[in-house]
Order: sequence, then C-alpha cells, then structure tokens
Amino acid sequence: MTPNVEAARAALSHLDLIEKPKLIRTYSRDCFWYSPVLKSRMDHLEADFIACPRNEADVIEILRTCYTHDVPVTTRGAGTGNYGQAMPMRGGCVMHMRHMNLVKSVAPGRVIVEPGCVIKDLDAHCKAHSGQEVRMFSSTWASATIGGFIAGGSGGVGSVTWGSLRDLGNILRLRVVTMEAEPRVLDFTGEELSRVSHAYGTNGIITELELPLAPAYEWTDVLLSSRDFTAAATFADELANEDGILLKLASVYEAPTAHAYFNRVAPHVTDKDHLVGLMIAPHNMDSFLTFLARRPALKMIYRSDDCDWQKKPGPVFEFGWNHTTLRAIKVDPSITYLQVRYGYPDHMNLIEKMRRAFPAGEVIQHLESIRMEGKVAFAGLSLVKFTTEERLDEIIAIHEAAGALVFNPHRYTLEEGGRQHADDTQLSFKREADPKGLLNPGKVITWDRPDWDYSRMYDFANDRREQA
Ligand code: FAD
Repeated sequence: MTPNVEAARAALSHLDLIEKPKLIRTYSRDCFWYSPVLKSRMDHLEADFIACPRNEADVIEILRTCYTHDVPVTTRGAGTGNYGQAMPMRGGCVMHMRHMNLVKSVAPGRVIVEPGCVIKDLDAHCKAHSGQEVRMFSSTWASATIGGFIAGGSGGVGSVTWGSLRDLGNILRLRVVTMEAEPRVLDFTGEELSRVSHAYGTNGIITELELPLAPAYEWTDVLLSSRDFTAAATFADELANEDGILLKLASVYEAPTAHAYFNRVAPHVTDKDHLVGLMIAPHNMDSFLTFLARRPALKMIYRSDDCDWQKKPGPVFEFGWNHTTLRAIKVDPSITYLQVRYGYPDHMNLIEKMRRAFPAGEVIQHLESIRMEGKVAFAGLSLVKFTTEERLDEIIAIHEAAGALVFNPHRYTLEEGGRQHADDTQLSFKREADPKGLLNPGKVITWDRPDWDYSRMYDFANDRREQA
C-alpha cells in the first residue's frame, strides 16, 4: 500500500489546506517533547499537508479521499497531548479541527459541541448561556480542544468530584466518522463510548460531542503550606472526603516543588514547605475554614478572593496536573515525570513507600486527588530527575513492584501508555472503522504486531524497517 499524497492533496485542494513548510512542521508537533524518551524518537516526524475541515461534510471528504489514495490521517486539536498522541508517524495528512468549534446547544446539565472548541471558550459559552460549566477539564483549559481532551486525555480539574473521563456519565454521546471507502457517521452512547474515547483518533474521528454540565462557580483558589508532607497529603485526602465541601481541585506538591518551580509562589514558601492547591466553591469557604482550623499543621498562604500578593499566581489549576511538570521543566530541563495510580485503600501507604524508595529527591511527589469508582485516592504525577532511559525504566519497575500502577508517559502507543494490553473494544471497532489502518498509524501495537511482548519499547518506525 503506497500512499499517493499528491493525488489526495490535489483532490482536496478546494478545502482549507495548509502547505507552508514552516506551518506544516508546527502543526505536525504536539507536546511529545515532555518526555526525553519520546523527544529522541519523534522529533523528526512531519505531515505532508494539513487539512482544516469546516464541518462534518469536509471531514467525510478528507477521510474518503485519503482512504482512496492510501494516505494516513492523524487528527489534531490543539496539540497539547504529551504522549505524542497527535504526531503523524507516517506523514500524510494532519486533520486540524480548529474551524469546527461551534457550541451547538446548551440545556440544563448538558451541552452539544463540535470537537475543535477550546475548553475555555466552551466554558465561557455555557456560563453566559445558563450559569453552567464543564464538569472536568485538562489543566490546558486555556488552549486545548474538547475533542482532543476526550480523544487523548483522561481527567483533570474536576476529577476530585467527578472521577475520570472513562467513568460512566462523564461523556453522554459521541458522533464519529469512520475511514472507509464510504465513511459512515455513527452516534455512540453507553458501552459504545469506550470504542473511541481515549483512542487517540485511531478508529474514528469525533465530529460532535454531548457532555454533562454542572453549575458554574467563581471558584476560590487556595494555597496552603506545611512542613509535614504526610499532613499535607492527609489534609487533601480528608478534605476530598468531606462530603459537604464542593471542590474542583485538590493537589499536593512535595517540597521543594513550590519553592523551586512555582516562581510566583516561591517568595511565600521555603524549600522545606510542601504545598496544597485547592479550588473551593465560594459558598463553602466558611466550612472550609472550619475544616482548616482543626488542622494546625497547614497554613493558608493564599486565597484568591482576599489576596495581597504583589504578583498574583494566576489560576491555581495551572500549577496542577501536567502543568506542574511544565513549570518544573521550564526551570530544570532535566525534569520529567511519571503518571501513577495510587488506588484506594492503600494510596497513603503506597505514597509513603515511594517516598522512602527515593529519599534523595530523584522522585518528587506531586499528587492530585481523584475519585476512582467512588473512592477518593490519588493520581501521582511525580516529578523525576531524568538521567537515563534505563534508570527511568527501573524507577517505573520499583513503583509497579510496590503495587502502584504506572501509565507510562514515555510511550506513544495506546497499550504502553495504558495497561500494557490491547483494548479489545477499541481494536475490534478499528477493524471495521479503519480497515486499511490509516487513522493515526503506529499508535496501536496490537494492530501492527499482535504478538508484541512488551518487554521493550515498541518503536513503530524501526519495527517497520525490521519487518521489511
Ligand atoms: P491534541 O493533543 O491535539 O490531540 C490529542 C489526541 O486526540 C490525539 O491523539 C489526536 O489525534 C486525538 N484527537 C484530537 N481531536 C480528535 C477528534 N476530533 N477525533 C478523534 N481524535 C481526535 N491531559 C489530561 O487528561 N488532564 C490534564 O490535566 C492534562 N494537563 C496537561 C497539561 C499540560 C501542560 C500539557 C502539555 C498536557 C496536559 N494534558 C492533560 C494532556 C493534553 O493536554 C490533554 O489531553 C488535552 O486535553 C488534549 O487536547 P488537544 O486539543 O491539545 O488535543
């Protein structure tokens, strides 16, 4: 199967195509560089051209045309994915969803929206319409698209209350276009949602989403400091379990994160201070202060509704989730991170175990409270001082041996970034929706190499060379 890029490009030339080499390079890249491992494998990747559909009919035409000419299609929202999800492994067409950004309708508790809508704009629309907001968003709220979040993300700000995207109820309906000789348009609900959510656009392109909404608040941002890490983590855990206090975020940062990497917070803490970041519903601030008064190990250093800091820190969620890593990398480019699941009921013990396993600051704890199957636990986005790939693998192995599940952010395939095995639901849908394997190629190991044993990193480009 040899792609005929020129024929596809010519057939699509009446659409909005981007062909300037500099822009092609820009729109071929996501945040893969977060990982030193992915950086060394993906830096050279580039699409042949970028197509920007204006509506679902354009998406159908792009997929049909590229199918006819065997041209791969990798879809892109804002390119903030940091697993290399939107990197075009085999070149071809990058389909950029920027024009498909319409909020179609808002009703009590739900919104229907096109995938290219930036989450910040979606929130602004829902708030102006009827005082509502999305339940959860990635900390890239200001730039990421809602389609990219659903296809490439997992949860984030709001997950302390609502769980993660994969939990029932957090996605209501997805409309998807397949890549066949004659693309089909399918509406998925219920069990079918897991076919394409967090599937990196490998088995269908989302053209419309229906999502749940919650009442919008002017959330009060709070920062607390403590000399005692366990007290800080316990505080976040207990607060997230305090049923009457509504939270959107509860993050814990081990020292010296705040002092070393959070420039605007640094003047207010020392390198011995651990930090807790919170978003609290304003009507619950009084109850929160009562909760805090019972725990003198924590000191409030900032609240957004009453602040005398000369330089305001900005939204507290932009210190949390993957923004912690971003801020650390900006100060120390040798930093990278892990994505760990500290599941209930052992989460507190596991975290202590990991702190004891890396006493010299090679791994610094960063925790995000998250509801997992109704139980509050922690997602760990630990900062790691990177030395070699071998040592990174060892650090991951130490976590796994202790019972902490790692979603490896240094791999670009769905399997390796997940639970190391094929998702049969997604794979069987790919067989019918993308029979030529042209959608975001290289991201599903089981598609290319069903016999893969996961003992080493899957490297799509090299593997194809080895097989050839
Ligand atoms: P992109 O990066 O453009 O795409 C993501 C994936 O979705 C790609 O595989 C792409 O092919 C696919 N895709 C995009 N649009 C469609 C579509 N219409 N149909 C089918 N497939 C599609 N992630 C979290 O889950 N939570 C966080 O809190 C979080 N914080 C982050 C912070 C930083 C600083 C960074 C760099 C990343 C963070 N991420 C987080 C990862 C990423 O930002 C989120 O997943 C984000 O929501 C992706 O949106 P995007 O528009 O940038 O998608």
